[in-house]
Amino acid sequence: EKIRVLVWNENIHERKSEAIRKIYPDGIHGAIAEGLMQYEDFEVRTATMDMPECGLDEETLNNTDVLIWWSHIDHAGIPDEIAERVRQRVLDGMGFIPLHSSHRCKPFMLLMGTCCRSKWRENDEKERIWVIEPAHPIARDLPEYIELAEEETYGERFDIPTPDELVFVSWFAGGEVFRSGCCWKRGLGKIFYFRPGHEAYPTYYRDDIRQILANAALWAK
Ligand code: ZN
Repeated sequence: EKIRVLVWNENIHERKSEAIRKIYPDGIHGAIAEGLMQYEDFEVRTATMDMPECGLDEETLNNTDVLIWWSHIDHAGIPDEIAERVRQRVLDGMGFIPLHSSHRCKPFMLLMGTCCRSKWRENDEKERIWVIEPAHPIARDLPEYIELAEEETYGERFDIPTPDELVFVSWFAGGEVFRSGCCWKRGLGKIFYFRPGHEAYPTYYRDDIRQILANAALWAK
């Protein structure tokens, strides 16, 4: 039986900015979904914030094994009731994979219980993502490290509870380090936060990043 993955995106940058739309003509959710569809393990759907109930109605969530989430500039646009619904589904066993700036989305903050802030800088800097747990299922088929020529820089302190498992640590050319691949369990659910994927860079088209997201969805199911 296939794993039912829902790729959710606030989908605002792609609609409002010509430059971002050029990078992600089908939206960030479209690029992520396309990557997952290369694997036979998944039945992939997408949803965006402009849909009724933000695309996160009860029926949709109840038919989702793993929810991948991308949001940035309108975290507040998710009604509390819907954030709580997502949190409850995670506690009931749904996998949850918030990406990049989604570290500040309501459901993740509810599940962490901390403010989840980090340092950040948009400076087109090189990021090297070190695999520090090569035996972890999310690190399957990866080299020792992955290098992204240009990404947004994030830095510690990242105000999260100490992860149950830390799979990746990023280093940036500006000197920062960041816990960029973090696993937690909450209730019956598994959560994996993964850092890369600023909207101005084509990060989600990369085979290695797609491999990580597929590994993570398999792990989180
Ligand atoms: Zn960003």
